[in-house]
Amino acid sequence: MGTPRERSPLAERVEELLAVGGPLPIVEAGDPVLRRAAEPFDGQLPPALLAGFVEALRLTMRAAPGVGLAAPQVGVGLRIAVIEDPAPVPEEVRVARGRVPQPFRVLVNPSYEPVGGARAAFFEGCLSVPGWQAVVARPAQVRLRATDERGLAVDEVFSGWPARIVQHETDHLDGVLYLDRAESRSLSSSRAVAGLWSQPTPERAAAALGFELPGPAA
Ligand code: ZN
Repeated sequence: MGTPRERSPLAERVEELLAVGGPLPIVEAGDPVLRRAAEPFDGQLPPALLAGFVEALRLTMRAAPGVGLAAPQVGVGLRIAVIEDPAPVPEEVRVARGRVPQPFRVLVNPSYEPVGGARAAFFEGCLSVPGWQAVVARPAQVRLRATDERGLAVDEVFSGWPARIVQHETDHLDGVLYLDRAESRSLSSSRAVAGLWSQPTPERAAAALGFELPGPAA
């Protein structure tokens, strides 16, 4: 746990962020904090400050709006992320993408590993790369290990869109952006996605833009 006699610079940073109030400013691609591996959380923030930080992450995620937010995206290099997806999508999108509602969760020190060989590819975006989306093929199912904000162990298999969210957010904590894993030829402005590629799956985009999609699961 943290050493009470010595205040962590990260605690000071978080106190400064919370002092302003309201949604936190989101760091954008190009800032080195998004490219560094975040420090494992080990009590650097005392409990009340951790609770305040988690609440600020939730507020910021909802205001953006987004379905996940990792601490480095607000300039804090700690392995903490929040996720939440009310999934307000049409039925055909829900079915094709497995986009089911994901309640609010706090992931502390998460890591994941694929379960099975199936991969799923869909357009994905990031609050730190505003205005753009790209298709990312990811494991369709992952086993996530973490703790929650109370320190209780999480060991859970995620599928569908929630699996994509936990991978995207955990990747942030390793200094990885979704663009590192994306089909670069799929890169599309949000306007182009809304106008051309809003189908439930990216097959038409793949044919028209010239990129590969993963084959059926072996
Ligand atoms: Zn992101």
